[in-house]
Amino acid sequence: MKLLIATQNSGKFNEIKKFLDGYFKEFYYLKDFPDFLEVDENGYTFCENSLKKALHYSKFVDFYVLGDDSGLMVDYLNGFPGVYSSRWAGENLTDKEKYEKLLEKMAGIPFEKRSAKFVSCITFALKGKEIFSVTGECKGYILEKPVGEGGFGYDPLFYLPEYDKTFAELNSEEKNRISHRGQALKKFLEKLKDINLEKL
Ligand code: IMP
Repeated sequence: MKLLIATQNSGKFNEIKKFLDGYFKEFYYLKDFPDFLEVDENGYTFCENSLKKALHYSKFVDFYVLGDDSGLMVDYLNGFPGVYSSRWAGENLTDKEKYEKLLEKMAGIPFEKRSAKFVSCITFALKGKEIFSVTGECKGYILEKPVGEGGFGYDPLFYLPEYDKTFAELNSEEKNRISHRGQALKKFLEKLKDINLEKL
Protein backbone atom coordinates (compact mmCIF):
# COMPACT_ATOMS: atom_id res chain seq x y z
CA MET A 1 0.00 0.00 0.00
CA LYS A 2 1.16 3.48 -0.88
CA LEU A 3 0.67 6.62 1.22
CA LEU A 4 0.94 10.25 0.15
CA ILE A 5 1.69 12.47 3.13
CA ALA A 6 0.23 15.80 2.05
CA THR A 7 2.97 18.14 3.23
CA GLN A 8 5.91 20.04 1.74
CA ASN A 9 7.64 19.98 5.12
CA SER A 10 10.40 17.36 5.19
CA GLY A 11 10.55 17.46 9.02
CA LYS A 12 6.89 16.46 9.26
CA PHE A 13 7.25 13.93 6.45
CA ASN A 14 10.15 12.17 8.17
CA GLU A 15 8.40 12.00 11.54
CA ILE A 16 5.18 10.58 10.07
CA LYS A 17 7.03 8.17 7.81
CA LYS A 18 9.08 6.86 10.72
CA PHE A 19 5.95 6.33 12.82
CA LEU A 20 4.05 4.51 10.08
CA ASP A 21 6.99 2.47 8.81
CA GLY A 22 5.77 -1.11 8.28
CA TYR A 23 2.11 -0.12 7.92
CA PHE A 24 2.52 1.24 4.39
CA LYS A 25 4.95 0.03 1.77
CA GLU A 26 5.83 3.25 -0.03
CA PHE A 27 5.73 6.81 1.26
CA TYR A 28 5.51 9.98 -0.82
CA TYR A 29 5.14 13.66 -0.01
CA LEU A 30 4.30 16.75 -2.01
CA LYS A 31 7.88 17.41 -3.06
CA ASP A 32 7.60 14.15 -5.07
CA PHE A 33 4.73 15.71 -7.06
CA PRO A 34 5.79 19.28 -7.85
CA ASP A 35 3.07 19.66 -10.51
CA PHE A 36 0.13 19.19 -8.14
CA LEU A 37 -1.99 22.32 -7.71
CA GLU A 38 -1.68 23.67 -4.17
CA VAL A 39 -4.64 24.02 -1.82
CA ASP A 40 -5.46 27.16 0.19
CA GLU A 41 -4.98 26.39 3.88
CA ASN A 42 -7.55 28.99 4.85
CA GLY A 43 -9.55 27.02 7.45
CA TYR A 44 -10.08 28.35 10.97
CA THR A 45 -9.21 25.06 12.69
CA PHE A 46 -6.47 22.47 12.30
CA CYS A 47 -9.03 19.83 11.34
CA GLU A 48 -10.63 22.04 8.70
CA ASN A 49 -7.20 22.41 7.10
CA SER A 50 -6.12 18.77 7.39
CA LEU A 51 -9.42 17.76 5.78
CA LYS A 52 -8.95 20.30 2.99
CA LYS A 53 -5.42 19.05 2.27
CA ALA A 54 -6.31 15.35 2.39
CA LEU A 55 -9.42 15.68 0.20
CA HIS A 56 -7.72 17.95 -2.31
CA TYR A 57 -4.59 15.87 -2.88
CA SER A 58 -6.45 12.56 -2.79
CA LYS A 59 -8.18 13.61 -6.01
CA PHE A 60 -4.82 13.50 -7.81
CA VAL A 61 -3.66 10.01 -6.80
CA ASP A 62 -5.36 6.62 -6.65
CA PHE A 63 -3.90 5.65 -3.27
CA TYR A 64 -4.25 6.73 0.36
CA VAL A 65 -3.52 10.27 1.48
CA LEU A 66 -2.71 11.57 4.94
CA GLY A 67 -3.20 15.29 5.57
CA ASP A 68 -1.69 16.83 8.72
CA ASP A 69 -2.31 20.34 9.93
CA SER A 70 -0.57 21.35 13.08
CA GLY A 71 0.70 24.34 14.97
CA LEU A 72 1.58 26.01 18.21
CA MET A 73 -1.02 27.66 20.49
CA VAL A 74 0.46 30.02 23.07
CA ASP A 75 -1.81 30.70 26.06
CA TYR A 76 -0.50 34.23 26.68
CA LEU A 77 -1.34 35.04 23.01
CA ASN A 78 -4.84 33.50 23.28
CA GLY A 79 -3.93 30.52 21.11
CA PHE A 80 -1.91 32.44 18.51
CA PRO A 81 -0.23 31.57 16.10
CA GLY A 82 -2.41 28.41 15.87
CA VAL A 83 -3.40 27.64 12.28
CA TYR A 84 -1.13 30.51 11.18
CA SER A 85 2.01 28.96 12.72
CA SER A 86 3.84 28.48 9.44
CA ARG A 87 3.03 31.86 7.85
CA TRP A 88 2.09 34.55 10.45
CA ALA A 89 5.62 35.97 10.62
CA GLY A 90 5.92 36.41 6.83
CA GLU A 91 6.47 34.34 3.72
CA ASN A 92 9.70 32.43 3.02
CA LEU A 93 11.22 32.84 6.46
CA THR A 94 13.50 30.23 7.96
CA ASP A 95 12.39 28.33 11.08
CA LYS A 96 14.89 30.39 13.07
CA GLU A 97 13.50 33.70 11.78
CA LYS A 98 9.99 32.54 12.70
CA TYR A 99 10.80 31.50 16.23
CA GLU A 100 12.80 34.68 16.77
CA LYS A 101 9.67 36.69 15.90
CA LEU A 102 7.75 34.68 18.47
CA LEU A 103 10.45 35.37 21.06
CA GLU A 104 10.12 39.12 20.34
CA LYS A 105 6.37 38.91 20.94
CA MET A 106 6.93 37.13 24.27
CA ALA A 107 9.80 39.33 25.50
CA GLY A 108 9.64 39.96 29.25
CA ILE A 109 6.86 37.42 29.91
CA PRO A 110 7.75 35.26 32.95
CA PHE A 111 8.13 31.47 32.61
CA GLU A 112 4.85 30.60 34.36
CA LYS A 113 2.92 32.65 31.78
CA ARG A 114 4.67 31.04 28.80
CA SER A 115 2.55 27.88 28.67
CA ALA A 116 1.61 26.59 25.21
CA LYS A 117 0.51 23.50 23.37
CA PHE A 118 1.15 21.93 20.03
CA VAL A 119 -1.91 20.52 18.26
CA SER A 120 -2.10 18.19 15.29
CA CYS A 121 -5.09 17.03 13.28
CA ILE A 122 -4.61 14.18 10.84
CA THR A 123 -7.08 13.23 8.12
CA PHE A 124 -6.94 9.98 6.20
CA ALA A 125 -8.58 10.04 2.77
CA LEU A 126 -8.99 8.16 -0.47
CA LYS A 127 -10.07 9.55 -3.83
CA GLY A 128 -11.67 12.74 -2.52
CA LYS A 129 -13.41 11.12 0.48
CA GLU A 130 -12.55 11.34 4.18
CA ILE A 131 -12.01 7.98 5.87
CA PHE A 132 -11.44 9.46 9.36
CA SER A 133 -9.70 12.29 11.24
CA VAL A 134 -7.88 12.21 14.61
CA THR A 135 -6.23 14.84 16.82
CA GLY A 136 -3.37 14.99 19.31
CA GLU A 137 -1.98 17.59 21.72
CA CYS A 138 1.19 18.13 23.70
CA LYS A 139 1.60 20.74 26.45
CA GLY A 140 4.77 22.63 27.33
CA TYR A 141 6.36 26.06 27.77
CA ILE A 142 8.02 28.56 25.42
CA LEU A 143 11.60 29.16 26.52
CA GLU A 144 13.27 32.57 26.28
CA LYS A 145 16.09 31.15 24.15
CA PRO A 146 16.34 28.20 21.74
CA VAL A 147 17.83 24.96 23.08
CA GLY A 148 18.73 21.87 21.01
CA GLU A 149 19.55 21.14 17.39
CA GLY A 150 17.01 18.51 16.31
CA GLY A 151 13.47 18.64 14.95
CA PHE A 152 12.05 21.57 12.99
CA GLY A 153 9.87 24.66 13.34
CA TYR A 154 9.45 25.90 16.91
CA ASP A 155 11.04 22.76 18.43
CA PRO A 156 14.04 24.54 20.05
CA LEU A 157 11.66 26.79 22.03
CA PHE A 158 9.21 24.12 23.19
CA TYR A 159 10.17 22.90 26.67
CA LEU A 160 8.68 19.84 28.36
CA PRO A 161 9.08 20.08 32.17
CA GLU A 162 8.55 16.30 32.68
CA TYR A 163 11.58 15.54 30.51
CA ASP A 164 13.57 18.72 31.25
CA LYS A 165 14.19 18.94 27.50
CA THR A 166 12.92 20.82 24.46
CA PHE A 167 11.46 19.00 21.46
CA ALA A 168 14.72 19.85 19.67
CA GLU A 169 16.71 17.82 22.23
CA LEU A 170 14.73 14.64 21.56
CA ASN A 171 15.53 12.14 18.82
CA SER A 172 12.72 11.39 16.38
CA GLU A 173 11.58 8.21 18.24
CA GLU A 174 11.36 10.11 21.54
CA LYS A 175 9.57 13.04 19.92
CA ASN A 176 7.10 10.69 18.20
CA ARG A 177 6.31 9.04 21.55
CA ILE A 178 5.42 12.36 23.19
CA SER A 179 4.45 14.89 20.56
CA HIS A 180 1.05 16.13 19.37
CA ARG A 181 1.69 14.37 16.02
CA GLY A 182 2.73 11.17 17.81
CA GLN A 183 -0.50 11.26 19.88
CA ALA A 184 -2.59 11.76 16.74
CA LEU A 185 -0.67 9.00 14.93
CA LYS A 186 -1.30 6.54 17.79
CA LYS A 187 -5.03 7.15 17.36
CA PHE A 188 -4.57 6.89 13.60
CA LEU A 189 -3.10 3.38 13.94
CA GLU A 190 -5.88 2.27 16.31
CA LYS A 191 -8.49 3.38 13.74
CA LEU A 192 -6.54 1.83 10.90
CA LYS A 193 -6.76 -1.59 12.59
CA ASP A 194 -10.59 -1.42 12.50
CA ILE A 195 -10.69 -0.81 8.76
CA ASN A 196 -10.41 -3.16 5.84
CA LEU A 197 -8.37 -0.95 3.56
CA GLU A 198 -8.65 -3.31 0.63
CA LYS A 199 -12.45 -2.82 0.61
CA LEU A 200 -12.50 0.99 0.60
P1 IMP B 1 1.40 23.37 8.42
O1 IMP B 1 0.68 22.33 9.23
O2 IMP B 1 2.27 22.77 7.38
O3 IMP B 1 0.50 24.46 7.96
O4 IMP B 1 2.46 24.11 9.36
C1 IMP B 1 2.49 23.93 10.70
C2 IMP B 1 3.58 24.81 11.28
O5 IMP B 1 3.48 24.66 12.70
C3 IMP B 1 4.99 24.36 10.91
O6 IMP B 1 5.49 25.06 9.82
C4 IMP B 1 5.77 24.67 12.17
O7 IMP B 1 6.14 26.01 12.18
C5 IMP B 1 4.73 24.46 13.26
N1 IMP B 1 4.80 23.07 13.77
C6 IMP B 1 3.90 22.07 13.58
N2 IMP B 1 4.33 20.94 14.18
C7 IMP B 1 5.52 21.23 14.74
C8 IMP B 1 6.45 20.47 15.47
O8 IMP B 1 6.32 19.26 15.72
N3 IMP B 1 7.54 21.13 15.87
C9 IMP B 1 7.75 22.45 15.61
N4 IMP B 1 6.95 23.20 14.91
C10 IMP B 1 5.81 22.60 14.47
